[in-house]
Amino acid sequence: MTSPKDEMVLDGNAVAGTLAEIYGDDMTTVLAECTSCGNVDHIGGLIAYVHAPGIVLRCTACATIMIRIVQTPKRTLVDVRGKRIPPPP
Ligand SMILES: [Zn+2]
Repeated sequence: MTSPKDEMVLDGNAVAGTLAEIYGDDMTTVLAECTSCGNVDHIGGLIAYVHAPGIVLRCTACATIMIRIVQTPKRTLVDVRGKRIPPPP
């Protein structure tokens, strides 16, 4: 059973279209490392809040904000301070 609150929490796949508009490519399979706890996840697997002002993607392990996207009529602001590109295996 889901409450109205649960329905507002999605995963990164829900914002695949917005990410593709910004980066020009499918970002959901790209790995991102949390700067807070070091957890590595696909962007499509991050916790997405899309009903906040803008889009917020959070770490699945510690809930740190990894990506923040705010679209205004004139521009798109992307804050990725909470995300690192993980080192190659
Ligand atoms: Zn984390």
